[in-house]
Amino acid sequence: YRDKDFNHTKTMLERFHALFGLRKFRSNQQEAINCALERRYHLFVLMPTGGGKSLCYQLPAVLDHGVTFVVSPLRSLILDQTQKLLSLGIPCAALTGDRTPAEVSAIYAQCYASEPKLKLIYITPEKIGQSDQLNKLFSHLYAKNNLARFVIDEAHCISDWGHDFRPDYVKIGTLRDRYPHVPFTLLTATATPRVQRDMFHQMKIERHLSKLFIQSFNRSNLVYKCIAKGKTDGALARTAQLCLSEQFVGMCGIVYCFSRAECERSASYLSKSGVTAQAYHAGLIDQERTDVQTRWANDEYQVICATIAFGMGIDKPNVRFVIHLSMPKSIEGYYQESGRAGRDGEQAYCYLFYSYQDLIKTKRLIMTEQSADATNEAKKVRIDNLHRVYAYCLNNVDCRRTLLLEYFGEQYLSSQCKKYIETRCDNCCSVAQTKLVDFTILSKHIISLVDQLTKQFKSATINQVIDILKGSKQKTIKDAGLDKLEQFNIAEEVSRTNLERLLSKLILDGYLYQDISINDTYGTATAYIRLGKTNTFSSPIILSVCLKKENPNV
Ligand code: ADP
Ligand code: ZN
Repeated sequence: YRDKDFNHTKTMLERFHALFGLRKFRSNQQEAINCALERRYHLFVLMPTGGGKSLCYQLPAVLDHGVTFVVSPLRSLILDQTQKLLSLGIPCAALTGDRTPAEVSAIYAQCYASEPKLKLIYITPEKIGQSDQLNKLFSHLYAKNNLARFVIDEAHCISDWGHDFRPDYVKIGTLRDRYPHVPFTLLTATATPRVQRDMFHQMKIERHLSKLFIQSFNRSNLVYKCIAKGKTDGALARTAQLCLSEQFVGMCGIVYCFSRAECERSASYLSKSGVTAQAYHAGLIDQERTDVQTRWANDEYQVICATIAFGMGIDKPNVRFVIHLSMPKSIEGYYQESGRAGRDGEQAYCYLFYSYQDLIKTKRLIMTEQSADATNEAKKVRIDNLHRVYAYCLNNVDCRRTLLLEYFGEQYLSSQCKKYIETRCDNCCSVAQTKLVDFTILSKHIISLVDQLTKQFKSATINQVIDILKGSKQKTIKDAGLDKLEQFNIAEEVSRTNLERLLSKLILDGYLYQDISINDTYGTATAYIRLGKTNTFSSPIILSVCLKKENPNV
């Protein structure tokens, strides 16, 4: 979006330089700011984390008449922003739960002044439906023409299609009904086209009344790499090695862990290996958490071993590596978490350790969760998200960027990634030639094999199916007479990895269903496959496979 007449207003540029101390706009910022100042449209700003969304409402807020309200989901995010603004001399306040009554009264008093000096007020979403005092303030400012704008940070939280739905966000829609002439700015770093549509729908914003500022999500300075986990603690040992390697010595990184316990264990393992590491998770008390955050910001730790609770609102530019010790829960989540690396634009690394056991472990957790949020429908979505991550990890052919950006509705050509000398993804480094192979016929064989196995033995496992397809000489196979099956050895020339990928696709597409049974005595989990709901091959099953390796050692 460009409006030539409105470009470069002198005051706007002056404030940009003088107040914010910045020199050049980043992509889409100036356009979004101009559009906001024009006040004719609602704005939708989609930029990757660290892209500079805040400026798109902060600069207009300073220039506009009246008060801008910013709805933001986390107190830590709000604290971060208000501190930054106050340090720039911009009058702002936060109406969060931790304010004393005296502080709250002072904020309200300033707003009821005939010319409110406050330019920005941050609020958490739950306040919107609950606080009469706040609603009265909105109405008062609205009547006086002093309600400049509503800004919705992390706006994807309003859609339950997203990975981060927050029921409190739904109330934001009521603001549109009550203050129809107030422009909205929606900000997010994650929105698939489906979430985008839903967001507009929930917010009752018509497309023709809005302008979209959408930026590519590609992070050209990040190197993506997936590594199969070896034996117990293999990933941890490798992590310690990486931290101590010449490449990362003196550089800091985040190690994402599966649980609080894994955070603690990893931190202590790394510490013993000579890495300054600290655990960080939701189990810490507030004081400990702020303490860790501050020391991390001051480079006192090389590594933070964290659950995903860590990160939102922490803006450390020089994170040189992000390691996932366990698989992330969704591709979107992975993009966010890995995206905390290299915010300064310098080269940074993202390593993802994965294993089949991890898939089963997490899946089991999802399946057995009992809470109000964990409806069957919600579980299905989460399991699906998880299988997508696993398929991403198993994929040893396609460009990681292409695969990641697909989720944001972006088409990314691997030829782009191959052009990066320093930051090519692992697959673009190692694969020289690929081919699309139609696996529909083999898939039909697999379906009928699984059908026979479940009928005959009540169950089938992925390994068993692959063993049969590959014509395994194992005694157990022979003893059970499985070498007599029609499907025995029919996929001799297909690699085990590709068979795993194929089975993983058949599960994702609903041809197969993977269930988990838990042994009551030992608490161990075993995964079984059986036929899924889909049984007609309406479209062919196609996978890209590697024909030639570029550098087999990578
Ligand atoms: P987002 O909200 O998109 O994650 P922020 O608005 O917090 O990102 O901005 C990330 C960082 O980039 C901040 O430190 C901010 O000061 C910086 N920044 C934003 N715009 C610019 C710019 N035009 N030039 C230089 N730095 C910028
Ligand atoms: Zn690539």
